Amino acid sequence: MRVTFLGTGTSTGVPIIGCGCKVCLSTDPRNQRLRQSIWIQHRGASILIDTSSDFRQQALRYKIRKIDAILYTHHHADHIFGLDDTRVFAYRQRAQIPVYGTEETLEGIRKTFWYVFADIPEGGGRPKIDPKAITGPFDLLGLRVVPLQGDHGSMPVTGYRMDGFAYLTDCKRVPPETLQALSGLDVLVINALRYSPEHPTHMTVGEALAVTEAARPRRTFLIHMGHELDYAELAKALPPGVEPAYDGMVLDIESTKESVK
Ligand SMILES: [Zn+2]
Ligand SMILES: [Zn+2]
Ligand SMILES: [Zn+2]
Repeated sequence: MRVTFLGTGTSTGVPIIGCGCKVCLSTDPRNQRLRQSIWIQHRGASILIDTSSDFRQQALRYKIRKIDAILYTHHHADHIFGLDDTRVFAYRQRAQIPVYGTEETLEGIRKTFWYVFADIPEGGGRPKIDPKAITGPFDLLGLRVVPLQGDHGSMPVTGYRMDGFAYLTDCKRVPPETLQALSGLDVLVINALRYSPEHPTHMTVGEALAVTEAARPRRTFLIHMGHELDYAELAKALPPGVEPAYDGMVLDIESTKESVK
């Protein structure tokens, strides 16, 4: 399974429009973060987790040529606003794209993208998606997908585990049952906004490290980072086995066990 980080930034992206701070002005490409999303490739299948506000740019930059499914974590703007740009994939593939999320997330998408579901003339075209509400683990294109519930402060958020890989974005807290479901991981990807102060809906670096210490994955990568975090400084300060992700980082994850034939 190959994971490509399409974006590793918090909702504003980094640099933040109009900001003159050290990280926003940095020339280190690892400090330039599009909005949070990853792309999973597995045995020819192409799966997105979220369609960020920067999805068009990400699809061009990383040469995404098809989408077989989209898994949504929640319906905040930075995670869903790229949905309209999936139009081109639906035309080319001549099929609806299955889109997975909790009923609450799908309802948020239906409200935001009302025209996708409305009985109106086609005009410039619309995304063609097939919403599928998730209630528990399911099989997807040769992968066993285990949804993980996270707490995003004001709302729930869905993380996903696939074999030895788990992805948790936009969490403030990880409930005990989710922590249990993170045992035996090869790779954990988890959000960390900044060092301090604490944030009501996102983990700090310290809070993400506490989850890492409890779950004990082999490797951890931090995502959804703000302009308070300079890549090189953060990388130096993190304990062994934990590193910040950056846009364009690719992980090849070996299967620890074949879950589906
Ligand atoms: Zn977000
Ligand atoms: Zn800044
Ligand atoms: Zn969010």
